[in-house]
Amino acid sequence: MSNASLVIANWKMNGNRALTRTMSEVLRDNQADFNGVKVVICPPFTLLAEMAGHIYYDEIALGAQNVSEHESGAHTGEISVAMLQELGVEYVLLGHSERRAEQQESDQVVAAKAAAVTQAGLTAVVCVGEDKSQREADKTWSVIKAQLENSLASLSAKQMARVVVAYEPVWAIGTGETASPAQAQEVHAKIRGWLVENYQQVGAKVPLLYGGSVKANNAESLFSEADINGGLIGGASLKGDEFSAICRAAKG
Ligand code: PEP
Repeated sequence: MSNASLVIANWKMNGNRALTRTMSEVLRDNQADFNGVKVVICPPFTLLAEMAGHIYYDEIALGAQNVSEHESGAHTGEISVAMLQELGVEYVLLGHSERRAEQQESDQVVAAKAAAVTQAGLTAVVCVGEDKSQREADKTWSVIKAQLENSLASLSAKQMARVVVAYEPVWAIGTGETASPAQAQEVHAKIRGWLVENYQQVGAKVPLLYGGSVKANNAESLFSEADINGGLIGGASLKGDEFSAICRAAKG
């Protein structure tokens, strides 16, 4: 049985206008197989408007891969929450490990962005995860706990109701190496415990996504774990059939 109801596609720096159209068509053609599952597509900024034009049914929503923590002004190259809202964006990925590594995005920056996103009524998808050396040194939970504390703990309960947490072990992203369902569940249960301890009933309802080489052939076993409420999908979200199969696995 699946415990998942949310699947988010992270296209990263991939895709083009043609893909927005074909992906929308494939999802529309297969939607009967996964009704009740919320599907969010996060294309690059330049494809958001195009994608918005191809949203054919209610359960598909638009997401962005990043946002500025600033409201407006002299921040060349940045995109504000209000700009995303104007395009109909409902979800924003924050603190992806690629941004943490390549753009030196810190927990403090993620916290400021999460505050701006949730204050505006959008949903912040906050990514956390340990790298290989941290896992091997048995530091997985201490790393993730610190990320949660530093990027989420200043949010009000009302803001927390607009947060999704994505557990993405860095060693599993884009590598083909997936955390086993048991490994993922172990971390998800601890994240759930932290959320409940700090945000009680609101924390109990925060969706927890697993991300890291989720494919059509492993989605079902991951989504059957008690605290895995869906997936954040990179590479496999660029292929319509594969992505549809993952959405189908979420439906169970
Ligand atoms: C990601 O980028 O969030 C991700 C999980 O990538 P992949 O599915 O390709 O590992």
